[in-house]
Amino acid sequence: HRFPVVVVGAGPAGLTVGNILRAASVDCLVLETETREFIEQRPRAGVIEEWAARGLEKRGLARNLLDRAELHTACEFRFDGERYRFPYGELTGSHHFVYPQPLLVTDLVREYADVRGGHIRFGVRDVRIHLLDTDRPWVSYTCPETGERQVVHCDFVAGCDGARGVSRASLPPERVRIARHDYGIGWLALLAEAPPSADCVLFGCHARGFAGQMPRSPEVTRYYLQCPPGDDPENWPHERVWSELRERLGAAGVPPPAEGRLIEKRVLDMHDYVVEPMVHGRLFLAGDAAHLVAPIAAKGMNLALHDAFLLGDALVARLTTGDDSGLDGYAQACLRRVWDYQEFSQWLSEVYHGTAAGNPFRAGTTLARLRRLFTSPTAAAAFAEQYLGTAARY
Ligand code: FAD
Repeated sequence: HRFPVVVVGAGPAGLTVGNILRAASVDCLVLETETREFIEQRPRAGVIEEWAARGLEKRGLARNLLDRAELHTACEFRFDGERYRFPYGELTGSHHFVYPQPLLVTDLVREYADVRGGHIRFGVRDVRIHLLDTDRPWVSYTCPETGERQVVHCDFVAGCDGARGVSRASLPPERVRIARHDYGIGWLALLAEAPPSADCVLFGCHARGFAGQMPRSPEVTRYYLQCPPGDDPENWPHERVWSELRERLGAAGVPPPAEGRLIEKRVLDMHDYVVEPMVHGRLFLAGDAAHLVAPIAAKGMNLALHDAFLLGDALVARLTTGDDSGLDGYAQACLRRVWDYQEFSQWLSEVYHGTAAGNPFRAGTTLARLRRLFTSPTAAAAFAEQYLGTAARY
């Protein structure tokens, strides 16, 4: 078999690259280890920045998103027993779309496979990427039905297989630098079958630890609770979860969170990494395969989409007109936004976690940082710009 491009991984990044290629009639093969049902239901992100939604729209990939997503124009911080609403929409003229990742992935798979006629193999095993230093790389995998090894020759490989994929591991270790940051903090990530208790994202900055609320739909709400890294979700029975949420999100005059069955409960260790360069020979990494950003500022899927737009467009230019400039500048163009978002996440982490650090000095500076957002219009504008990723140029 031969395809101009093999895309490894059918997450937001891989499916977006595939869709861009198919729109330009470039053939590609997407390889995914999970089943279609699994990826269409895997709960994760939910906040899409407006520029990212517009990027999807421009490529014909946002019809359902624009019809069904909720628009968010404000978030609310809760600290010192009070609530502080932060109207970022007014400050930037931009907003967030709240659209659960499984819905976006479902839209992207349908468009790619059922509408644009793209090739995709689900449930593949043991994907391996070969001969990246040559002009003729090839990818092999085990076919789920027959158990046989399949070989696919290609011109380019798009490594979009997330944080635990094979693409990053295919880079020769002596040629890559992986910059890592560990926050030393865990988040218990929860999905509750309950309506949100406020119409916007809530950030509780509390001495007992951070708590967050992210509305997903009228029936389902995501909550986060800061916990020790590596904590066992079994340490968090229903009663403990809801009493901590009430405490940490509590403020004068607010209703307690509406309780509901917890349908997801897992501990995330907060860490980041960035792989440089994102390119090796004919392999181009995109999304979480190249950089992980802890979900502190809800940036990961947005960065994955940003990479995918650049990579999809660059591959189309190369394969249809021979123009190499997009591929040559790809990593640099991605990494400017990646590092900017990493820096913002690190800054925001202190806002969320500083009051619970058990250190009165850090608690004092954290509260000063928080109050500044509500007393200095310049600080507020800078925060809003970073929160929405609206800086004019990267
Ligand atoms: P993935 O979505 O991980 O897709 C990679 C795909 O590759 C997967 O389908 C995987 O099964 C497949 N794969 C893996 N290994 C192989 C292999 N060897 N061969 C073939 N296929 C393989 N981001 C936001 O922007 N906003 C948010 O609100 C937000 N909230 C989050 C909440 C949580 C709890 C978590 C965990 C993450 C959150 N993120 C958020 C981050 C976001 O989910 C990721 O950044 C995003 O999924 C990255 O997309 P991707 O396509 O790069 O990788």
